[in-house]
Amino acid sequence: MLSVSDIEVSYNGVIRAVQGVSLEVPERSVVALLGPNGAGKTSVLRAVSGLLGMQRGKLVRGTILLDGQRIDRLEPSAIVKRGLAQVMEGRRIFGGLTVEENLRAGGYSRRDGAANRRTFDQVMTLFPVLAERRKSAAGYLSGGEQQMLAIGRAMMAGPRLLLMDEPSLGLAPIVVQQIRDVIRQINAEGTAVLLVEQNATMALSVATHGYIMQTGHIVLNQPAAQMLADDQVRKFYLGLDEGGTRRDYGRLKDRAVREAERAERRAAL
Ligand code: ATP
Repeated sequence: MLSVSDIEVSYNGVIRAVQGVSLEVPERSVVALLGPNGAGKTSVLRAVSGLLGMQRGKLVRGTILLDGQRIDRLEPSAIVKRGLAQVMEGRRIFGGLTVEENLRAGGYSRRDGAANRRTFDQVMTLFPVLAERRKSAAGYLSGGEQQMLAIGRAMMAGPRLLLMDEPSLGLAPIVVQQIRDVIRQINAEGTAVLLVEQNATMALSVATHGYIMQTGHIVLNQPAAQMLADDQVRKFYLGLDEGGTRRDYGRLKDRAVREAERAERRAAL
């Protein structure tokens, strides 16, 4: 469904944030894009949704196809019309508007009023908490509720592909579980998801396939179950210990490299 081939992204004409990244999101799948801070994950999402220009960023190489057609030269609004919506990092809801007004804003680009009403009802069913707080100002919602609203608002565009940037960021474990269940449900209803996450356990538990990025490159590309089952991957790429707890994997990776170098030196003596 989404095919990203060999893309390169730069900011201000200098910073090369993404260097030759390729990835695929098949129809009705959930694909996780993982990696440490600054690896380039958000930049990949921005390239796909056409939002690089707003950040003084540019797609300098590569192609992006949605259902076999190029979208890498299109305006963000035209990309949304083709069936793609993005839940941005940091939620970005309209705090002064009510929950309902936020949701209606998400369906703004759709001409079909009946479809809009149907999706609105689906979102209300998917997020009972939003239904309860329908008339409240969104700014008063908790962090988890705001994240649900951000997802609900993206759903209002009726996407076939949903891009999500760190939906679990800063949320309590129980809320992270709720977000994961929502992703499952959205996917079960036919929407494909490209999920950017630092919470590798959460992402790989819903994803069918995973990509790991480091400093602008894809360093690993495997079925999600295989990633989770591989101790080396868990330890050195995902920074997860045996209990599945996340550790600082940048530092872990450095340590692994140092250990390997030491072993090499010992072997050479
Ligand atoms: P994070 O989890 O911290 O958001 P990320 O993997 O999503 O990390 P990006 O946000 O894509 O990574 O950043 C990749 C690189 O591009 C970083 O070096 C970052 O400083 C740089 N970058 C990102 N956005 C901009 C911008 N608007 N202007 C200049 N440089 C940027």
